[in-house]
Amino acid sequence: MHILVTGGAGFIGSHIVDAYLQEGHQVVVVDNLSTGKKSNLNQAAILYQVDICSFEELEVIFQKYAFDVVNHHAAQINVRRSIEKPIFDAEINIIGSLNLFELCRKYRVKKCIFASSGGAVYGTVKQLPVDENAITKPLSPYGIAKLSVEQYLDYYYQVWNLERVILRYGNVYGPRQDPQGEAGVISIFCNNILRGDPCVIFGDGWKTRDYISVHDVASANLLALYSSSEIYNIGTGLETSVNQLIDILQKIAQQKISVIHDKDRMGEIERIALLSKKANELLGWKTNVSLNKGIEEVFQWYQQKHCKSNN
Ligand code: NAD
Repeated sequence: MHILVTGGAGFIGSHIVDAYLQEGHQVVVVDNLSTGKKSNLNQAAILYQVDICSFEELEVIFQKYAFDVVNHHAAQINVRRSIEKPIFDAEINIIGSLNLFELCRKYRVKKCIFASSGGAVYGTVKQLPVDENAITKPLSPYGIAKLSVEQYLDYYYQVWNLERVILRYGNVYGPRQDPQGEAGVISIFCNNILRGDPCVIFGDGWKTRDYISVHDVASANLLALYSSSEIYNIGTGLETSVNQLIDILQKIAQQKISVIHDKDRMGEIERIALLSKKANELLGWKTNVSLNKGIEEVFQWYQQKHCKSNN
């Protein structure tokens, strides 16, 4: 297939690019490299350093390639920034997405796969793990944008026949996640431990998240190529607190980790875990990487990076 991956030089997008190339697909990437890196990107992918907010530049790319699928991962991913600058967030996450969907319509793309967020669209949930039918009540402009884009995609599906597969991820972790960002607590902690810096916990550390390996997320994106139009949670169904992450890391690093507590952050939910029964049954997807193994992989990845930068 001819596939456009937006955000393909980023953390999750670059793993999806690898998986698609390995299956023999032709992959074009659109990324403005605001948080993504060329070094993340597989050499066999064709990179256009273009902003999704630029309709004209995007159109040149759509004219050149007849894409079968658009896999949309480019986004402003910082929840706190979305609270401070909701208009900026909406310009990229809503208007940028609409630029793509209008071009999908115009150039008759068959399917769009969209990276949504289970942690952001449901809000405060009564019963965990939450399934796809639960009420959505986002607590941040970032979550509102994700939900709006899901609804726009529903419109493009119903009215213009653009198939859409919406993947609502848990907290994705793995190699290549940027520890300088504010998302990606596992990367941030691994990096801090190896630098001898303390790990900062916001609040008491008992907030829970559903941590899912980027390899399992990439495999969901492969299966999504052949899925009918559906919304799927992509998570483990398990809640893990930040304090539990520290315990796991302590065992892997074989050292006592120094921890500092800071005040809670706005727009953050207390608990989340995603029921992925639908993805198991309809998509044929399952998790392959346990949290312990996955964290070990990230820790080793940072160890190698630190060795290289010290030599
Ligand atoms: P990332 O920052 O590594 O990837 C985002 C990519 O988009 C980067 O390469 C960045 O340069 C690019 N980008 C940003 N703005 C752009 C623009 N205006 N035009 C073109 N490219 C632009 O983050 P990630 O964690 O890999 O997230 C990828 C997607 O998955 C995002 O849509 C994010 O909202 C979603 N998501 C991530 C998580 C998670 O836990 N990391 C959870 C749920 C959903």
